[in-house]
Amino acid sequence: MKNTTMSPESYMMSLGYSAKEHQGSVKSPIFQTSTFAFRSAEEGKAFFEIAYGLREKKEGEEMGMIYSRVDNPNMNILEKRLAVWDEAEAGAFFSSGMAAITTTVFTFVRPGDLFVYASPVYGGTDHFFNHVLPQFGIKVVKFFPGDSEVDILKKIEHEAPGMKPAMIYVETPGNPVNSLVDLSMVKRIADGFSTFERDCLMVVDNTFLGPVFQHPMKFGADLVVYSATKFIGGHSDVIAGACVGSAGLIGQIKAMRTFFGSQLDPNSSWLLMRSLETLKIRMQQQVKNAKEVAQYLSNHPMVEELHYLGNLEKNSEQYRIFERQCEAPGSMIAFNIKGGEKEAFAFLNNLELFKLAVSLGSTESLAEHPATMTHVDVSPEDRKRLGISPNLVRLSIGLENAGDLILKIEKAFEKAEEVYSGSKEKEITSY
Ligand SMILES: *Cc1c(COP(=O)(O)O)cnc(C)c1O
Repeated sequence: MKNTTMSPESYMMSLGYSAKEHQGSVKSPIFQTSTFAFRSAEEGKAFFEIAYGLREKKEGEEMGMIYSRVDNPNMNILEKRLAVWDEAEAGAFFSSGMAAITTTVFTFVRPGDLFVYASPVYGGTDHFFNHVLPQFGIKVVKFFPGDSEVDILKKIEHEAPGMKPAMIYVETPGNPVNSLVDLSMVKRIADGFSTFERDCLMVVDNTFLGPVFQHPMKFGADLVVYSATKFIGGHSDVIAGACVGSAGLIGQIKAMRTFFGSQLDPNSSWLLMRSLETLKIRMQQQVKNAKEVAQYLSNHPMVEELHYLGNLEKNSEQYRIFERQCEAPGSMIAFNIKGGEKEAFAFLNNLELFKLAVSLGSTESLAEHPATMTHVDVSPEDRKRLGISPNLVRLSIGLENAGDLILKIEKAFEKAEEVYSGSKEKEITSY
């Protein structure tokens, strides 16, 4: 579905749907049905032949619906529309981001294979890679942001001598401190391992900046995965996931999805069609708000260190990667508050307007404590390495007025500061 004639947002209200064929209904109905009637036995036979890959589609032959686990009109429209943002040929939707990730990995990675990924990744993804894949005889090797091409190749050769990875998986920006991985470098590594018989696939989790502000396929990614629960859904009311890429790869993933049963239901698909119409303006406004909040945080005496892509040090390698592959700094902010867990908790417990909740990318602003919540399952050693310390707070900035958000942050800092000076006094008197 390569549509380069208009901007993506112009397709979100119409692509893949014809009002004329639905009594003029401007919006697509919800196709709340499990099964679809064939016009004839011959047609049913033809659909099954194509669905099971028993023969190729003939020139001009239209594939119809069979059963909603295989395909449903709402999910189908949604897939066409999401693919436009990444200029991908095809897309697939799933019942969650985790369903998108697990179905994608199991479509291409087999027992005996090597699987390589960049840490940090989302907590659920990390658990799946480290605790589930090995149970299927899949060897897993990880690298870290900041590792050079040579470092990574050495690591692979050391931990899996002579093996060629079937897949390299990265999430960038990484959660929670917005660490960036150089996608062009990952592509060079993947290409180096690809052979005539088998490609080493490069998969990128684009949940944090995509599909509006980062396009990994332009840097060589074969597949891009999303938790559509986050920015794509954008209203904290749907769990969903997606994958986009070439028609060939997505076709294989959809075949696997049919047997895992991990497709998205018609109702959630319809809700996401609505969400896609406002995706770009939501994300743009969220970035605007986040920049204001980050600017305020960067000057606050209770902030020890700020992790926001809009405030990277100009001469750093991370800044160079940002300039190359990100089109905006996004709306995820993390910062180290002066003190430790006590001060972080005092801040969170006194932060009004924000919801104290995990997840991100929604209309409402959210705040959480990575070390004890989203990243509690990460080993202490990796937590240290990834900067997930007890004084780290993560914010997802929504659509409230930025000035109001800043006022509430100010109030929460006052409480945290009381705790901080209180514990400093105690330290002094205990000498
Ligand atoms: C939330 C999230 C996931 C998992 O998605 P679910 O929709 O919760 O299953 C995967 N990757 C990233 C980056 C996420 O933030």
